[in-house]
Amino acid sequence: MTDTHCPYCALQCAMSVTQGKVSPREFPTNRGGLCQKGWTSAELLSSPARLTTPLVRRDGALHPATWDEALDLVAAKLRELRAEHGPDAVGVFGGGGLTNEKSYLLGKFARVALGTSQIDYNGRFCMSSAAAAGTKAFGLDRGMPFPVTDLDHADAVLLVGGNPAETMPPFVQHLKGAELIVVDPRRTATAELATLHLAPAPGTDLALALGLLHCAVADGHLDQDYLDERTNGFADAWRIAASWWPERVERVTGVPVADQRAAVRILAEAENAYVLTGRGTEQHASGADTVSAWINLALALGLPGRRGSGYGCLTGQGNGQGGREHGQKADQLPGYRKIDDPAARAYIQDVWGVDDLPGPGRSAYELLDALGQPDGPKALLVFGSNLVVSAPRSQHVVDRLGALDLLVVCDLVLSETAAIADVVLPITQWAEESGTMTNLEGRILLRQAAQRAPEGVRSDLEVLQGLATRLGQPVERFPVEPEVVFEELRVASKGGLADYSGVTYDRLRAGEALHWPVVEKSTPRVFLDRFAHPDGRARFIPVDHRGPAEAPDADYPLQATTGRVLQHYQSGAQTRLVKELVDAEPEAYVEVHPDTATRAGLREGELGAVVSRRGRTVARVRCVPSMRLDVVFLPFHFAGEGRANLLTNPALDPTSRMPEFKVCAVRLESV
Ligand code: SF4
Repeated sequence: MTDTHCPYCALQCAMSVTQGKVSPREFPTNRGGLCQKGWTSAELLSSPARLTTPLVRRDGALHPATWDEALDLVAAKLRELRAEHGPDAVGVFGGGGLTNEKSYLLGKFARVALGTSQIDYNGRFCMSSAAAAGTKAFGLDRGMPFPVTDLDHADAVLLVGGNPAETMPPFVQHLKGAELIVVDPRRTATAELATLHLAPAPGTDLALALGLLHCAVADGHLDQDYLDERTNGFADAWRIAASWWPERVERVTGVPVADQRAAVRILAEAENAYVLTGRGTEQHASGADTVSAWINLALALGLPGRRGSGYGCLTGQGNGQGGREHGQKADQLPGYRKIDDPAARAYIQDVWGVDDLPGPGRSAYELLDALGQPDGPKALLVFGSNLVVSAPRSQHVVDRLGALDLLVVCDLVLSETAAIADVVLPITQWAEESGTMTNLEGRILLRQAAQRAPEGVRSDLEVLQGLATRLGQPVERFPVEPEVVFEELRVASKGGLADYSGVTYDRLRAGEALHWPVVEKSTPRVFLDRFAHPDGRARFIPVDHRGPAEAPDADYPLQATTGRVLQHYQSGAQTRLVKELVDAEPEAYVEVHPDTATRAGLREGELGAVVSRRGRTVARVRCVPSMRLDVVFLPFHFAGEGRANLLTNPALDPTSRMPEFKVCAVRLESV
C-alpha cells in the first residue's frame, strides 16, 4: 500500500493505492472523502487506451518507433529549425497538472537547452487573473493564504464564480458551519446549498463587486481601523465604487438591491468571514480587475490577514499553485521570480551555470496564435496539455497547430492533440512516478509512486534529459530522479517569494504540513502580521466595470458560459477513459431555459447547435428552468463537434493575458 494523492484537482485529496485500487485516506483537506473522479482514478492505470511506444508520423499516419528514433528525429528537427530561424522558432507548452519538479525542469529546458523565450502553460487559462490580482493587492500570490481547515470556523463565506460541490465535493464539508452566499449566473449544485444566491448576468461580476463595496460603505460596514492600519488606496477605489449605487448595479447585473445589501450585511456581521473566488471571476477579458474588485470588498470589511477571516482563490488544476511558481510561465523564473528582474536573472543563471537567459515570451493564447506564422514558433513541444479541447477558439488553434513544421506531444494516451502530432511520446502517470504538488492552500505534498509503469513508457523528466543531451547539454544538468530535481528547485527558489528551500522529501515523507514559504518553518497563514508589499500594507486597486468583450446582438442574441461537471476533469483526456464517469456523463450538452429552447425550435434531449462568431458546437439540449433566459451553459470537457471551446472568445485580459472563456455571444438553433 502506498500513500499518495489524487491525480486530478487542486484539493489533492489523500488516497492510498494498493495493487491498482484506490482508497481514501485521512487528510485535512478531504477528511477521508473522495469524489467520483478520485474513487475511479485507478482505472486510468490499466486503461487499454494507454500508449506504450513512441509514435512518429510518416505518410500522414502515426507509426510505432523506438525511443531513440523518436528522440533523434525530434532533436534533429529542433536543431534545424533553430539554425534556420533562431531559438524562438521552438515553443514549449506546459500544464498546471505537472509536478513541481516537471514544471521546474521544463522551464530550465526551454531557457537553457532550447534557449527560447517561447514557453507558457495552460495555467494561463485558469489561474493567472487571480495570481495577478493577488500580487497587486497583497504583494504575493498564494491562492489560499490560510489552511482549508480554517474555513471550518467560518460564520459566513461569499463564494464567487466557483462550484466546488461539483468540481471538488470534499471541499464543501469545510463550508458547513457558514452562511453561504454564492455568486454565479447559474443555479449550480453549490448555489443550491447557499443561504443566498446572487445570479448576475455573465460578465457583470465586476459591477456586482463594486455595488457590494458601495453597500458596505453606505450601510456603515467599513472597517475603518483596519483600513488605517493595514491598507493603502481606499479613496481611489471608492471614487469609482461611489457611482455604483445598488439600483444601478441591479440594472446592469440583474441582482436585486435587497440581495446586494443582505450579502454585505451577512459578511459584515459575521465574526469570521471569508471571500473566495474561482474561475468564474477570472476567465474574462477583465478577469484580473474583477478579482481585484472582490479583494477590495474583502479589504473594506477588514478580512484579509486576520485570523479566522480572509480572502482566497480556489485553485483548479492539481498543481495549479506550484505550476505557476517555478518557471513554466512566460514571465517567470523559479521561486516566483520575475524574468525581467536583473537580480532574479543573475541568481538563476548562477544556479543553472549559464551566462544568459532569454527574456519574457508570449502568453499561452498569443503563443498558440503565433504558431507557424512568419515571426512565430515553427515547432511546439506539449507537456501535460490537451490544447485541441482546452484552448479558446479551438478550430483556430487546431489550424495553427497544423501550420507547424513539428508538433511533439507527451501524453499517456492518444489525446485529441496527440492525434494530430508529428511525434507522440508515451509518458508515465501519477501513480507510476513520484513528485511534489502544491495544493490550493499552498501546502507542498509528496505524490509517491505506487506501481511500476508499463514497459515502453518514460517520465517527462526522462524525455527532457533525452532531448537536452541530444541538443548538447551535459547529462547532469537535467536529472531524471524527482528528488534530485527537487533539491535543485529548493536552491533555485531560495530567497524568492515562493521559497521552498526548507522543504525536503524526508520532511514530506514524515507527514509534515509544509505551506510555503518554508525557509525552515512552514507558513500556514501568510499575511497575519503584514502583507508582502515593502510597507507591509495591502493595496486597494481602483477598477471599473467594462462588460464582456462581445455583447449579444441580433445575430447572436444569447450569452454562452462554460464550466465543469462532477464526472470530468479539464479536457477530459483522462476522465473520458473511465467507464463509470463516461456512463454518468457521456456527451456534450447545453443547458438552456425551456422557453429559450422552444424559441429555437428545440426540445429536451434533442441535439442542438450553439453558434458563435468563431464556430459551432453540437450538444444535447437540457432544459433547466432555473437558467436565465439569455444564457446557455456548456461543459468544456468534451471533444469533437461537442467542444465548447469551438465557441469561446480569445479576448485577453490586459494584465493576466487570460482569455474570456466565461462569456461570448451565441445563438441556438436546430441541427
Ligand atoms: S478530483 Fe479533486 S475533489 Fe475529487 S478526489 Fe480528486 S482531488 Fe479530491
